[in-house]
Amino acid sequence: MKILIISDIHANLTALEAVFANAGEVDACWCLGDLVGYGPDPNECIALIRQQNNLICIEGNHDAAVIEQIELTAFNPEARLALNWTRAQLTADNLQYLKSLPERVELDLVTLVHGSPRQPVWEYLLDTRTATLNFSFFKTPYCLVGHTHLPVLYYLAEESRMSTLIMPDNSTQLALAPRTILNPGSVGQPRDRDPRASYVILDTDLFICEYHRVAYDVAAVQERMRKHNLPERHIQRLLIGW
Ligand code: ZN
Repeated sequence: MKILIISDIHANLTALEAVFANAGEVDACWCLGDLVGYGPDPNECIALIRQQNNLICIEGNHDAAVIEQIELTAFNPEARLALNWTRAQLTADNLQYLKSLPERVELDLVTLVHGSPRQPVWEYLLDTRTATLNFSFFKTPYCLVGHTHLPVLYYLAEESRMSTLIMPDNSTQLALAPRTILNPGSVGQPRDRDPRASYVILDTDLFICEYHRVAYDVAAVQERMRKHNLPERHIQRLLIGW
């Protein structure tokens, strides 16, 4: 099976459409949460995600905040403003959809969470030490995470005490080691100083993943954000990718 792995769309429809177009035909789509927050197109992004065949989608911290599962005070003032705006935009049906998303999904070979297997909605896997500790919190060979908006892989070799961090380039193909934590990066708000949308194609027959970046019309998204008076800092960061 060829599976499209995406995360952290953040209501950026232009980036999401670019990813779907670039990825082409796939057998399934797995989305690791944060469909909304920051960006100008929450309803449109949820609608497009919901149309995908063989979709598995889990919730992120921004999704959880919009449905009042977690307190808005956990976010900085600008993120809070965007979340309040998002909440006011969403249709009742799309709010209901966000409420239906699970925090964690466990398949035969893969565990899916937004942040980390230890704290699915919250924890950021930003270093090898934290990643290493998290290998004890899932049983499957592989775990997929988002949340940091950074495309990375952590490998834990058998009998090794510390995991290895890999930062793949565009079109890098990697074999999945017996224990791997994979982050596909962010579709709608990359933070690795590369503004292009990020995603991964996972081949579950060959156990190979391929990292991809795709450019999209950032200016068009920025214009829609300005129209809705969303924070200028969130508008600017899309251009540079931080
Ligand atoms: Zn996010």
